[in-house]
Amino acid sequence: MSRMTETLPSNPGLEHAREVLRHTFGYSDFRPPQDRIISHLIDGGDAIVLMPTGGGKSLCYQIPAIVREGTGIIISPLIALMQDQVNSLRQYGVRAAFLNSALTPEEAHQVERQLLREELDLLYVAPERLLTPRMLDLLMQSRIALFAIDEAHCVSHWGHDFRPEYIQLSQLHERFPETPRIALTATADKPTRKEIVQRLALQQAGEFIAGFDRPNIRYQISENDGNAKQRLLRFIRQEHPDESGIVYCLSRKRVNEIAAWLQENGIDALPYHAGLDNRSRQHHQTRFLRDEGVVIVATIAFGMGIDKPDVRFVAHLNLPKSIEAYYQETGRAGRDGQAANAWMIYGLQDVITLRQMQASSDADESHKRVERHKLDAMLAFCEITTCRRQTLLAYFDDHLEHPCGNCDTCLQPPETWDATVASQMALSCVHRTGQRFGVNHLIDVLLGKESDRISQFGHHRVSTFGIGKDLTATEWRTVYRQLIARGLLAVDLEGYGGLRLTQASRPVLRGETRLMLRKARKMGAKQQRKQPRIAEISDGNQAIWQALRNLRLELAQTQGVPAYVIFHDATLIEMAEKRPRDKQQLALISGVGDHKLERYGDAFLSLLKDDLEGAQNHSTDTVDLPTNPA
Ligand code: ADP
Ligand code: ZN
Repeated sequence: MSRMTETLPSNPGLEHAREVLRHTFGYSDFRPPQDRIISHLIDGGDAIVLMPTGGGKSLCYQIPAIVREGTGIIISPLIALMQDQVNSLRQYGVRAAFLNSALTPEEAHQVERQLLREELDLLYVAPERLLTPRMLDLLMQSRIALFAIDEAHCVSHWGHDFRPEYIQLSQLHERFPETPRIALTATADKPTRKEIVQRLALQQAGEFIAGFDRPNIRYQISENDGNAKQRLLRFIRQEHPDESGIVYCLSRKRVNEIAAWLQENGIDALPYHAGLDNRSRQHHQTRFLRDEGVVIVATIAFGMGIDKPDVRFVAHLNLPKSIEAYYQETGRAGRDGQAANAWMIYGLQDVITLRQMQASSDADESHKRVERHKLDAMLAFCEITTCRRQTLLAYFDDHLEHPCGNCDTCLQPPETWDATVASQMALSCVHRTGQRFGVNHLIDVLLGKESDRISQFGHHRVSTFGIGKDLTATEWRTVYRQLIARGLLAVDLEGYGGLRLTQASRPVLRGETRLMLRKARKMGAKQQRKQPRIAEISDGNQAIWQALRNLRLELAQTQGVPAYVIFHDATLIEMAEKRPRDKQQLALISGVGDHKLERYGDAFLSLLKDDLEGAQNHSTDTVDLPTNPA
């Protein structure tokens, strides 16, 4: 990745942008490459931006939209979240609105008039609405500062979030050739990136790629020992009590089951999937966004566009289909830069299910090949014994010099063993039994079990019967899991879980390659230490921190907005630590812009003042206390 450090030539547009950054948003500096992107757009260029979640994509279009004449049009796929995005901008004093089906015709009409009168800095529009004749006509009559296409990977067929309406967005270029366009995404491997450029006609656009690393996220992947539910509960209780998080499951049934189980155990958990009626879905999402400490249990239908900054963990009870999906889903944790966990549990059954889904997919051959490649990469990622972050970043052509020290393989390096002979036994057992049986049966044969099925097929007479007694059934399962993950065994197309040999199994069977495999971790092995928060509130400041949070909540509730929209945690922490005494000092805290200072400054300052006086009185009291007679 290019990490450009050269100073930009002084540029009046960029100076203006810096003013907006300081006064409107309350931040002191741009995070590179925000400055380069913003200045490129202000000068009228198109841009494609790849930046990890939490990297600060929004400012890249919000500031140029404010600086340039006219209104910035933001195309975003999720109408349910537009209200929150607009609320959040209005808190900064930015003139923002949205147009979607949630508005009454009168409300929509009013927004349209504001657009025509140039009274808006930013307007959020759903893609399907944007290309209606009425909307296009309206845009033609308005002055447009720029078009921002958020979640641009939705244009890609390869991606997991494909939206057909996005394809039409290429029209923007034809109809508004003079207006700068910026496409933004947090996911994009090379094929996806190429597709975005091509479909949106961004061949001339500047490409801005920020590093993909999310150093505050701790990656942890462990093998399923059949106790996933209990382990999830323990993880939440020990590491994230009263914190908000997302738990991903594959099926709706599983979502309901896990949500109910967590509720029974005192966790404020709510289900979310496409099978729930609209109202409950919306209600659960709102509770997750507004209240503190809600855990949402969801299928992958949940999460895109959720910009809640304080999600402290993302847990996967199933394997995502690709590394991009994993990166995207885990990326929803820790947007605010504070420590967060990406926790996943996976097992043999996941590997088999995904292989089957992929084998039975009715996509065309070339599409299938890409899918297979992506799944292989995901499975390999689970089984690696070296740093997860290095592998993850390498997948996106990013580079990390040293092991990260903040993933499970760095923190507790897994043991490996020479599994060449065991693998030969496992493969040979598949061969001897006719390449059509599933793992459980194969293990019974290796262990020399006397079952009806074994005698029915005469498998007590094959040469691999009973040769595997040195390993337990569990250990054999981890061997089979890794052989399937590595493509040394293929799963049948019929969906019964029967295994067969592949080209890749030959050299192992012939003894030409040595095979090192991961050892299963002993359960109940030493607990991983809890991850320290990056900005932890010091002990002496706990009370004021609570008081600041309560004030924030009160202010949020009277307006019906999420608490983080008033101020982020990081801003409150800084207030608690620095104790500003007047507006001038308060304005120096990161995240306090002019509008918020005006609106909330007095309330927060008087709280801080009371606390200070309280503390002084308190300390005088202590001095005055009669001393105990010795
Ligand atoms: P993304 O859309 O890339 O996931 P956001 O735009 O939501 O990220 O930004 C993530 C967080 O970083 C937000 O809380 C935002 O206010 C903050 N942020 C963005 N740019 C800056 C900056 N230059 N200085 C300080 N904080 C920033
Ligand atoms: Zn690591």
